[in-house]
Formats: sequence, C-alpha cells, structure tokens
Amino acid sequence: MATVLELGSDKASSLAGEVMARSGQNLSACYQCRRCASGCPVGEQTGYLTPDRLIRMIVLGKRDAALDNPLIWKCVSCYTCGTRCPNDIMTARVVDTLKKMAHEHRIRPSSPKVAAFHSSFIAAAKRAGRLNELSFMGRYTMKNTLGGLARLRLRGIIQDQKDQAGFGLVLLRKGRVHFLPQKIKNRRQFKRLMRKGRAWAGSVSKSPASQE
Ligand code: SF4
Ligand code: SF4
Repeated sequence: MATVLELGSDKASSLAGEVMARSGQNLSACYQCRRCASGCPVGEQTGYLTPDRLIRMIVLGKRDAALDNPLIWKCVSCYTCGTRCPNDIMTARVVDTLKKMAHEHRIRPSSPKVAAFHSSFIAAAKRAGRLNELSFMGRYTMKNTLGGLARLRLRGIIQDQKDQAGFGLVLLRKGRVHFLPQKIKNRRQFKRLMRKGRAWAGSVSKSPASQE
C-alpha cells in the first residue's frame, strides 16, 4: 500500500521538529535527490535503508521506524552523505540523534554489539574528556558479555573474548594502550559543556512540539 504523506500533521512535525532541533540539521530542505544514498558504504548491510529514506521517515513522522532501524546502528559516521548533499544535511548527526533518542526510549538496538561499543566509548570519553583504551575495553567487554548472557550466546561470548584479547595484545604491542587516564587540560569547562548539552537535549525532548 502506498504511504500517504500527511503534510503538516502533528505527528510528522513533532518528530521532525525534535530531530531537527537536536541534530541541528534542516531536514525540511531535503528534496530527495538521493545523492547521499549513492555514496553510503553501508547501504547493502541496511537492506538499502539509505540516508534519504531515513530522512523521509522522519519527515513523515514514522517514529517507531526512525528509532528502530539498521542504519542508525550500522552507520560508520563517514560523513559521505553530508559532503554530497546539496543542502548540507549531515545525516551522521541525525543518526547520532536517533541513537540517543532510541536509548532514551529504551528501544532494544538491532545491533547490540554496536550499541555496546557506542555507549562504552561515550562513557569512557566522558570521564576525562579523552578516551582511555583500558577503561573503554573493560566497559565494552562487560556490556557485551552481559548482553550475550541475556541472549544465551555462550559460544559467541567466548569467541568475542578471544577476539578482544587478541586485539588488545596487538594494541599493547604497538604502544596504543595507556594504563593511566589521560585528561584534557580544562576538565571543569568540559564538564560544564556536557551538563549544558544534557540540559539542552532534555529541554528539547520535553518541549510540547516533541510530544506525540
Ligand atoms: S543528498 Fe541531501 S537533499 Fe538529497 S536526498 Fe540526501 S539528504 Fe536529501
Ligand atoms: S555517515 Fe552514515 S549514513 Fe552517511 S554515508 Fe556514511 S555510513 Fe552512510
């Protein structure tokens, strides 16, 4: 059945409004030229859910589909779509916003390992303003193992541990693992920035325009 475009419907405008405010991208400028789609390296892995289609979903107010789809977890943030877009729409930022919104709505990610990687990276980098490899790998392994146990994937867990250990050894040999946390110079300013960002994102998501 063909999708009916409900121009100006509250449902469509609330989702699009929230995503536009949080990502800083003007999705209403998208005229579906598909230049972004032709360069997306993960198109085949997402069942051809390309950036243009994701944007269309958001503009149409398809909240469930926009927050639960393979592109938001498979996107590698290469920014190819954004550099090709004649309207400067950076879909990678839209994808990051949707990831955050999916997490806030407790939607189970379709790629749990990618979600574990993403949240461990953010949590580890948030502490000192710079990523510490040991802290990141510890968090990721823990999340991944717990997720695997919940899904009864014992063989997968053992294989993951082996892969992680092998990868960790390679990094160690190359001197890429720091045992002590590396901190940025002005951590107070960084924390203030993070607090402001959180407060701003909270106010945008609670605004009447973003409620359905
Ligand atoms: S390139 Fe830009 S305008 Fe064209 S479909 Fe993609 S997002 Fe829309
Ligand atoms: S940033 Fe993400 S959506 Fe855009 S081209 Fe790269 S992988 Fe595809």
